Amino acid sequence: MKQVLYMSTRDNKSRFSSSQAILKGIAEDGGLFVPDKFPSMDIDWDYLIKLNYKEIAYDILKLFLTDFTEAELKYCINNAYDEKFDTEIIAPLKKKMGTFFLELYHGPTLAFKDMALSILPYLIKVAAKKNNIDKKICILTATSGDTGKAALEGFADVEGTEIIVFYPVNGVSEIQKRQMVTQEGKNVSVIAINGNFDDAQNGVKQIFNNRGMLNELDEKGYIFSSANSINIGRLVPQIVYYFYSYIQLLKDGEIKKGEKINFTVPTGNFGNILAGFYAKKLGLPINKLICASNINNILYDFLNTGTYDKRRELNLTVSPSMDIIISSNLERLLSNISGNDSSYVNNLMDSLYKNGYYEVDSKIKNSLKDFYGGYAKEDETLESLKEVFEKDDYLIDTHTAVAYSVYKAYKNTTKDNTKTVILSTASPFKFPKSVIKAIDPKNNSIDDFELIKIISNLSQISVPKGIVNIDQRDVLHSKVCNKEEMMQLIKNLLP
Ligand SMILES: *Cc1c(COP(=O)(O)O)cnc(C)c1O
Repeated sequence: MKQVLYMSTRDNKSRFSSSQAILKGIAEDGGLFVPDKFPSMDIDWDYLIKLNYKEIAYDILKLFLTDFTEAELKYCINNAYDEKFDTEIIAPLKKKMGTFFLELYHGPTLAFKDMALSILPYLIKVAAKKNNIDKKICILTATSGDTGKAALEGFADVEGTEIIVFYPVNGVSEIQKRQMVTQEGKNVSVIAINGNFDDAQNGVKQIFNNRGMLNELDEKGYIFSSANSINIGRLVPQIVYYFYSYIQLLKDGEIKKGEKINFTVPTGNFGNILAGFYAKKLGLPINKLICASNINNILYDFLNTGTYDKRRELNLTVSPSMDIIISSNLERLLSNISGNDSSYVNNLMDSLYKNGYYEVDSKIKNSLKDFYGGYAKEDETLESLKEVFEKDDYLIDTHTAVAYSVYKAYKNTTKDNTKTVILSTASPFKFPKSVIKAIDPKNNSIDDFELIKIISNLSQISVPKGIVNIDQRDVLHSKVCNKEEMMQLIKNLLP
């Protein structure tokens, strides 16, 4: 088996094993870990079509995590994709409105983050053992709403770990907040920050790059890692469901072996769609990766102009998990399409930091053609959600509605009839206010917990286990801090 090593996007001379890259989360130079040589896969559809989710997961993970043994990977996979998911098939594919919705929200926290965060704690645990780490691993996480809860759920009471989650005080839905602040576990802390997701993410990244702070905590017996999609251990498990959905389409007779399909991905930090790009590099027949944004449409602008310009205000939208300006994982794409040219990537990142923008050269711009960028305005999102519900009796959440809206526009503009899978990233029960606003605007109930019951009645779907009676659980976390205080707070939390 060929060994895959990892290097920083900002230093192509560094090398780390996959377990080291997962433990570190982010490179010390601020770059993200990427494979030094991209693995290749023998694609035999007659073989793959017989596999279940866990078996496909193993076949993908072993290509990237080459210093994990077969037994270790299978231990992680078996513990991740079990009864925590409310369906044995893990990620059901539904044919609706003439297209396909891949439901990635059947895990414990009702968003696609569970697809990777149910396995990451196990990967980290095994990685720590492999590298003889005798320190406590402190998972620092910034969340736009869904990562936080999924990480908390995954790491709560995991021996040898501590988890601290920062969420933007006004940037998450009532249900998302409630899920987090009621989290139980001896090793968990949840803190609201006065700021938006970018403030939380920047704060966390600064801590990872603060040698003094890292040394101080190292002496106290802690090392830091990340549960955000900057961690390669988050990204690799996300490649799996791209293959899984393709195989599902084959099984259902919707496509022929080798036929190209599109994916439409509601995008924020560019992690999910980057996993799609990695799937394409492995040989999955993908025509276009359609990158769907809300009105925080910096990626739409970038894909269309080649300029990434962060000099803009962040808008709060009905799809809060995508309210992001700095899409971290784009750096991995730039690294890949520049041929791992770390000095080029460094220049872009410097320019983003110093000038607030960067512009890629024409060669890079040309390589962005795997992607198509679109965005949905707020009313278009709600309109799309309503349309799918009324025409096909299928309730999607607001993030998925952004994707559906962008896909419709894509099809209209390009006349491309390639079969398309829309990644359905959250359950509609997570965003009841906005969902009701779309399907029953006259309802002016303001209580999310009341609305959950109304949605259950309207959609004839019972309230998912993860949020039943959530309004009656005790609030265990009520700290609020300013972004400047994050570092001190962490020091106080880790005695
Ligand atoms: C996180 C999230 C997204 C965005 O995914 P990225 O990997 O950050 O691009 C989209 N929808 C939902 C519901 C999410 O939780």
